[in-house]
Amino acid sequence: LSAACSNEREGATGATTGGSTSAAKGFPADSLIGVALPSKTSENWVLAGDLFTDGLKAAGFKSDVQYAGASTTVADQQAQISAMVTKGAKVIVIGATDAAQLSTQVAQAKQSGATVIAYDRLITNTPDVDYYIAFDNFKVGQLQGQALLDGMKAKKATGPWTIELFSGSPDDNNAGVFFNGAMDVLKPLIDKGEVVVGSGQQDVKQTAIQGWKAEGAQQRMDSLLTSTYDSGKTLDGVLSPNDTLARAIITSVKGAGKPIPIVTGQDSEVESVKSIVAGEQYSTINKDTRELVAETVNMVKALQGGGAPEINDTKSYDNGAKVVPAYLLPPIIVTKDNAAEAYANDPKLSPLTK
Ligand code: BGC
Repeated sequence: LSAACSNEREGATGATTGGSTSAAKGFPADSLIGVALPSKTSENWVLAGDLFTDGLKAAGFKSDVQYAGASTTVADQQAQISAMVTKGAKVIVIGATDAAQLSTQVAQAKQSGATVIAYDRLITNTPDVDYYIAFDNFKVGQLQGQALLDGMKAKKATGPWTIELFSGSPDDNNAGVFFNGAMDVLKPLIDKGEVVVGSGQQDVKQTAIQGWKAEGAQQRMDSLLTSTYDSGKTLDGVLSPNDTLARAIITSVKGAGKPIPIVTGQDSEVESVKSIVAGEQYSTINKDTRELVAETVNMVKALQGGGAPEINDTKSYDNGAKVVPAYLLPPIIVTKDNAAEAYANDPKLSPLTK
């Protein structure tokens, strides 16, 4: 899995760029905006659909918000994007179900004069993606790696600590970027022997969970427990790339009657926030979907007016065909210690921390 995102983080440039992106000419204020989201593999996608419908309406646009189904995800999304082009959408916002399988559809979109925005997940190997908007995925991984270390150190002051590594779906460009970010923090300690991957499985191919499916993570954890931890060896921590997989990993460990290790996560899903407050899952990441959707709607508004959307990164996301100008938002690490503060402005999550 080759993740498009350089590991050299030189920070935001603040530059606004037209670059190779087609010059925006503006379009009527009540135009159709297409939003093609992947299948509902985590709560953030469910939230995003409703927020886009409401946010685009409030901004005066017509919207067509679609999700890929649960099984024929790639074909569904390809057909949905083509239909949006046919209906004359002026901007198509895409959360890719498979990063590398949309080049025909985004080429159609560009030929029709639409602007293509990759939302949360990059679209790879095509010049026909104009902008990328997401939380800083490499930073997400770094925060997860650091949280794993902090959590383990708080329980046992000195190493070596034994861990297992999980990563997300190989067809999602983010999966590799999250993993690389986490390994940026963990690898130096693994090399020194202070952190030991119990099973030895530390390649992104060995750790990947196809489709971000909970059952896949639970099965892999079940087999790791049998292969590596049956003789009483202690598992100190598990790097989990998101909350759905984190809860599956915890279910597996509990099912085996073993103590719960430090388990990371991402997305601030309701059940995981409850688990963190209860002292089971150790950490999650707050990527406020309300902010990401609002910033995406701002991009659409800028394009509508004929201007260039705000960009703050012009280096990190080479998709194999071009460096896609990006707007990256900062992710926030959340543990039991800062949950109340982190979710203070979130009416859904805030009550869970009291
Ligand atoms: C998103 C994560 C999410 C995962 C599974 C990723 O692309 O960035 O927030 O956990 O997809 O839905």
